[in-house]
Amino acid sequence: MVNQSVYLDYNATAPLLPDAFNVVQSLLSVPSNASSVHSQGRAARSAIEKTRFALAEILSANAELIVFNSGATEANNTVLQAFRADEIAVSSMEHHAVLDVHPDAIKIPVTSEGVIDLGALEHVLKSKKPKLVSAMWVNNETGVIQPVTEVFSLCRTYNALFHCDAVQALGRVPINLAELPIDFLTLSSHKIGGPHGCGVLVSGFCGETPVLLHGGGQEKNRRAGTENVAAIAGFGVALSEISGQSRNDWYYTQRNKIEYFLQNLSDSIVIHGKKAPRVPNTCFFSCPGLSSETLMMAMDLEGIALSNGSACTSGTVNPSHVLKTMGYGDDVAASALRLSMGWATTEQDIERFCDVFETVFNRMTKR
Ligand code: PLP
Repeated sequence: MVNQSVYLDYNATAPLLPDAFNVVQSLLSVPSNASSVHSQGRAARSAIEKTRFALAEILSANAELIVFNSGATEANNTVLQAFRADEIAVSSMEHHAVLDVHPDAIKIPVTSEGVIDLGALEHVLKSKKPKLVSAMWVNNETGVIQPVTEVFSLCRTYNALFHCDAVQALGRVPINLAELPIDFLTLSSHKIGGPHGCGVLVSGFCGETPVLLHGGGQEKNRRAGTENVAAIAGFGVALSEISGQSRNDWYYTQRNKIEYFLQNLSDSIVIHGKKAPRVPNTCFFSCPGLSSETLMMAMDLEGIALSNGSACTSGTVNPSHVLKTMGYGDDVAASALRLSMGWATTEQDIERFCDVFETVFNRMTKR
């Protein structure tokens, strides 16, 4: 077996696109403060605005509503912290960057397929009248696409504001804010091949623009601090590369191959969210009886990078909270592996994953 490295953890972070790298490198080699009035400052300003307009076009949103920040964690905190004193509801499968900000939030359950329970949401909206609902567009572990249009209309019916963490949706499902004017939308650059350190909060459809960081007039007084010009410009390059060239059909074919292979390998392997609509780049499965940490390490030793769920919980032994909330016990939740593909994934990568996984699985189950 040739020990070449195969990266299949795009939902944690995508490798930087070469064109994004070039732009980041060139901007880091010059002074770039977008508040400065000299020519370098004006060039920095123009790099930021170029990304803002590119994003506005992709989202069908007014560019004025877009605020750049340090990442989706900051964007989620900006919204959730603004409602700290209020009753709010969040889906129980949210990323920790939502769940941990408002631990007392009402939790909306999810189905065994990993879809938000709309009946339960309506019941909470009617009986508890939360001021804000936070529900993600695509789950980072399962890849399950959530019924955001229905969540949006329920929020409108019961006068709640809607925050949507759309980090895993960008580039994978169409996001049209002209059709669905979600009150607060969170995005992140490094999930699509842009650099780390750049996130977005789109807010203002409802007239509310929460502010987390004070102390400077940047981003029209909505996010203080010198802008990360290089990262924002790199994000702009990544946006232009994802728009218009979807690899979704290719991902579907590869994932079908992977799931066919897994099901032939063992009846005990459980593929999560299989009956729900899912983004095609993601395959999340469990091997009950085996430990996901051990499986992941064994795959890593062979040069294959996978995850056991969300990056923030990998490296710890906590079983996936998403699988727990879908109703699975510890054996399934603690034996989960996530494979996520992206712009540089090749058919050879998938073949190598299957070859190596078969060897590792058979060794660990002593077949
Ligand atoms: N929300 C979701 C759904 C994510 O997948 C992630 C990243 O893992 C985040 C938020 C946090 O994003 P960032 O790394 O930009 O802070």
